[in-house]
Parts: sequence; structure tokens; C-alpha cells
Amino acid sequence: MKRTSRDIRTANRYEVLRQIIAASPTSRQELAAATGLSLATVATLVGELLDLRMITEVGFEDSAGGRPRGLVAVNASGGALIGVDIAETYVHVELFDLGLNVLARAEEDMRPGESRPEQVVGHVAAAVGSVVAQAGVEAARVLGVGVSVPGQVDRTTGIAEYAPNWDWHDVPLLDLLSEYIAYPLYLDNPLRACAVAELWFGAARGHGDAVVVNLGTGVGAGLVLGSGLHRGVSNSAGEWGHTTLVLDGRLCHCGNHGCVETYVGAPGIMLNLRELSPRSPLLHPEDQTATIDALARGVAAHDPVAVKVVRDTARYLGAGISDLINLLNPEVVVLSSWVAGRLGEPLLTEVREAVARHALRRPLAATEIVLSPIPTDPVCLGAATFALEGSLQSVGQRQAKHRTTPARSRTAPAS
Ligand SMILES: [Zn+2]
Repeated sequence: MKRTSRDIRTANRYEVLRQIIAASPTSRQELAAATGLSLATVATLVGELLDLRMITEVGFEDSAGGRPRGLVAVNASGGALIGVDIAETYVHVELFDLGLNVLARAEEDMRPGESRPEQVVGHVAAAVGSVVAQAGVEAARVLGVGVSVPGQVDRTTGIAEYAPNWDWHDVPLLDLLSEYIAYPLYLDNPLRACAVAELWFGAARGHGDAVVVNLGTGVGAGLVLGSGLHRGVSNSAGEWGHTTLVLDGRLCHCGNHGCVETYVGAPGIMLNLRELSPRSPLLHPEDQTATIDALARGVAAHDPVAVKVVRDTARYLGAGISDLINLLNPEVVVLSSWVAGRLGEPLLTEVREAVARHALRRPLAATEIVLSPIPTDPVCLGAATFALEGSLQSVGQRQAKHRTTPARSRTAPAS
């Protein structure tokens, strides 16, 4: 797909706001230095963000005899963003201010067999209503709602094309939600939500190339390439969980055998435990969360079975992550989502050792492997970021309509 001058302008607007959120208050000169954009471009973009009331002027800093530099900061109360994390067993919704601080949370449990689209939509609508009421924000201040749903999604049409765990096919999710929710809606999946959360607020910030490995019930890799989210031609890049790790290995729900996910997703880790010690008290057959928690406690207490299961899981992960490192040569690999959060440092240590045995020396030397530093639900945060990006993008569309010269007739890119 061709990158238009409007795309570049939108990417620059993201970059400037990202930097302001990271380092408020800041001056236009600091923003130019941090982003590599010209001072004139930064001044224009800062002007747009001020017009939108997303940022605000907060005085001046002394600059050793020169003209005092104006400072800008995020206008946290300038709007609200909502992030929706629809997972296999729950719907989690958070409402954020523009500094991306959580102002309200709501969670709805979904019992097995409660996953028909209209049931899920009902849970989302209830939780969104709840966070808006709790935070006491005016409806007009809500800039948008980002919705993350597992599986393949078409973000342009708002259709959940395929959610394997629920057997959803071509569900018009955003149309269904728009019957209950009046705010602008943005759909994507948890892989991309976690990647965008790391890019804006976490370990991928400031890195051109990063891989965000999502370890949950499902597994995948969110890809940040050239400082932007890599989506692929049909928004399905990053399905690393369904690449083959073991020929003729475990059956995967995607229909293939030996997928990465079947060894390192939560159900795969449970199977690693069951194969090692079928009657282990660590095993909670119907409860992934309880089993992963028991393993984490077991490792902390030096339980040999728990230690072995985490090591075995890390061996599979290490082989898979080495593929990503050899293929993409990223600066950072971030381990994200709830399984990585709960198994934490012991898993990270084992993964680093395993990767060192498989990856090529040169790309390995350039890569850091870290745990996600985001302390809250990264999927909610990333989903809310989609709403933020969406509102920044629609600014560009509105401005393009008002321009007398159509952007595409220009020869020089409007950087
Ligand atoms: Zn698979």
C-alpha cells in the first residue's frame, strides 16, 4: 500500500503526541530533537494538538539568555478514551484520561457457553456504561472506544472474521456494538493492542523495530517495524503462534499440528505439566489461571516439577523467539500478556538462555529481551490507544476536506 503524505502527517502527529505524553512538560525544540522532525513541522503539529485541546501551554522555561521557550503538556482532562479487552472468559473495560491514566474500570465475567455475539455485546455495553458513569465524564468528552477481540478482524469494516475459540465467523461486531454505544468505535485484536501499548507507553517506545510476544491463552507476536505497527496486507501479520514448531506435533485448534501456541500458550503449558507429572497438585484441569499461578508459586518455592515445566516451556519459547530474532533483527523483544506477567523473571531468565542457544550471534547481540513494564492491562491500554490514534487520524481527514489544495496534488511530502 502506498504511503500518502497524509499517512506521513498522521504518523508524525502520533510521534509528537507520544513524545509529549512521555515527557510533559516539554518544548517544541525538545520535541524536534527527540523526534527528528524539523522545528517548523513540530510547531505546526503542536498547533493542531493545542486546537484539539489534547495538549495545553504550561508556561516557559529559561534558556540561558535566549528567548524563553514555551512549554506544552498533555491536557489530561481534555478528553476520555475507553479500552475494551474482550477475552475468552471475561470482558475488561477501562476509561482513561488523555494522559492515559485509568479513571474507571469494569469487568464482566463470561461463563462457558456465553459467547454468542449478542451476549458478548451485552457485556461490553454494560461495562462501557459503567465506566462512563463511574468516571462522571460528559458523553461529549469521550473521544472513542477501542475494542480488542481475539482472532482475525477487519478493522475497516468492523467485522470479527474468525475467532477460533468461539467459532465466530464474520460477526459484524462494530455494527452490533453501535446499537448500544454512541461513541466512535475502533476494532482490532489483542496482538496489535499489546504492540501499540508497548510502542506508545512501554518497552518499544523509541525503538524502530520491536517484537511484542503475547503469551496468554492464545499466542502471537505484535510487530513494530520502522517505528510503526506492521499489519500486513490483510491485517493478520504476527500470527506467530500458528507457525510450526514441531512437525506432526500437538493438534492445534487452527487445524494444524505442532503450532508454537500448543506448547507455550496457557493450555499448552498445562499440557507440558500433565505430560511431566499427570497427577501433579499444581494442575487445575479446568482452570488455566489457577494452574499458571500454581506454577509461579511452585517456582518461587523451588518445586522441581514447576521449575522443570517453566524450563521446558522456555525451551519451546526460546526456539520460537530465535526465529523472530533471526527473521526481523529487532532491537527489543517484549514478553507481554498474563502468562508472561505471572511467570515473570524466572521465565525471562530461562527464555534468554534458550534464545542464546538458537539465535544467530549478530542479530542476538543487537536484541534485548524484556518483560513488559506496563503495570495495567496492556490490551485495554492498547485498545484505548487505537481510539486515540483514530481521533488523531480523523483530525487529518477533517483538515484535508477543508484544505483548498488537495493533499495528493502536492509533489513534496507534507512532513
Ligand atoms: Zn495453530
